Amino acid sequence: MIDFTEQIPPAFTKYVLYFQFIPSLLKSLAAFTILSTGFLLVLLLTALFGRIYCSTICPLGFLQDIINYITKKIKKRKRRFEYLKEQKILRWSFLAFCVVLFLFGFAIGINLLDPYSIYGRIAGNIFRPTVIGLNNFISSILTNFKIYSLYPYEIKSFNLIPFLITISFLILIAYLSVKKGRLYCNTVCPVGTLLGYISKYSFFKIIIKDEECLSCGLCERDCKANCIDSDSKIVDMSRCVMCFDCISLCPTNGITFDYKKSIKTPEPELVEVDESKRNFLISTGVYLTSLSTILAQVKKQIVVTKPSTVPIFRKYAISPPGSQSIKRFNSICTACHLCVSSCPTQVLQPSFLEYGFTGMLQPRLNNKSGYCNFDCNICSEVCPTGAILPIDIEKKKLTQLGVAKFIKENCIVYTQRTECGACSEHCPTKAVHMIPFENNLVIPEVREEYCIGCGACEYACPVKPYKAIYVEGNPIHKTAKKNIEEEKPQQKVDYKEEFPF
Ligand code: SF4
Ligand code: SF4
Repeated sequence: MIDFTEQIPPAFTKYVLYFQFIPSLLKSLAAFTILSTGFLLVLLLTALFGRIYCSTICPLGFLQDIINYITKKIKKRKRRFEYLKEQKILRWSFLAFCVVLFLFGFAIGINLLDPYSIYGRIAGNIFRPTVIGLNNFISSILTNFKIYSLYPYEIKSFNLIPFLITISFLILIAYLSVKKGRLYCNTVCPVGTLLGYISKYSFFKIIIKDEECLSCGLCERDCKANCIDSDSKIVDMSRCVMCFDCISLCPTNGITFDYKKSIKTPEPELVEVDESKRNFLISTGVYLTSLSTILAQVKKQIVVTKPSTVPIFRKYAISPPGSQSIKRFNSICTACHLCVSSCPTQVLQPSFLEYGFTGMLQPRLNNKSGYCNFDCNICSEVCPTGAILPIDIEKKKLTQLGVAKFIKENCIVYTQRTECGACSEHCPTKAVHMIPFENNLVIPEVREEYCIGCGACEYACPVKPYKAIYVEGNPIHKTAKKNIEEEKPQQKVDYKEEFPF
């Protein structure tokens, strides 16, 4: 969900997420609770009323309807849609592709085709930056008039490949919905195929009444699911998305939503393959300002004159707290990017190949854009699939996502014989501490047992182009030792603080 203004009550957001089919199904597989039973309700609703999920709950379906509505208003063409044959083999192939990959431990199929996740990426990677850009533009104008009610929000990282993948999907889906209505939902979408099969046998159906139908074809021309054959007076329930447009459109009340009669199902035909087809802005201005202040302080005190020379090769990406292990995370995360949009420090960023091809688009911690806040567990609260399991703050503070590695040859204490210590200063557990070096200088040393891999040290390190300290991800998260003597509390985040838009 996307809530730019934080006006949508969290309970509403939870309801919407509860009913998202794939996230709810995955969550129940990860950890079955009453909160992960939404998919069962969706199945029940489908068995009773057909694919109402596709017209009322699925955000991608909703987005296609908006696109359709706008084009209908702009282009007043008479014949918009027509009955199309079902692409059965293609439909089931896409579903099988997702299921087989999932059974082999890869979420990439679901990740690419699940409608909720596609929508989440569109919202997070396209709509959100657009709104932020607009906010920043308006705020800069208002500032000229000494009005400070809006203030700019900095986007710290731009991920080109995830952006290109997302925008390609948006263009494809928009094109398909303009040209062919709900072709994506009825040919590609794995949820559409599964629910379509159940919908075929649903208790209530859309029925064309033989005696009242004039075969005028009005309903067929307006059916975005291309599932009404007005000549044969058949509605293909496996593809009907229950928008009920046809019922209101029929001039003779010849279409009804009824449970009494069974309907004729179109004969299976040989298939011709048709190729054509909040939490997140919870981050507060105050908090982001504090982040920039950290960097500003670091830059002010430390002047870096020599570029670093030792490149960093990270063997493992850093998966979010609560994900438990990279393997587990990669097998469940559908890359909806709700956690990415929710992360107040922007440390969570979509990956490209950091997890390998099959983990593409799944979020990982990118310490160039931020660090994992010691007192935060928001991603574990918002994740709808259970890829990031709920983790309480105390447990999270000891969860070792990775371990900091120090490269002495990049450190300015070594290269410039100057004072620094930014890493140690920002380490919340004091895993990085300073030890004597030369001429009264001190140099960092990592005590790995205390390190939680939050990346505060890497983020604070002023050296360029390669940091002198970086976090190597743990393939399986471990438990760090509590540093009772030196634990330093980080700045507390006030998430209730009002966000500017
Ligand atoms: S726990 Fe860390 S990664 Fe997750 S939202 Fe908070 S700061 Fe971001
Ligand atoms: S880990 Fe993040 S991207 Fe993956 S399913 Fe959960 S919220 Fe979505």
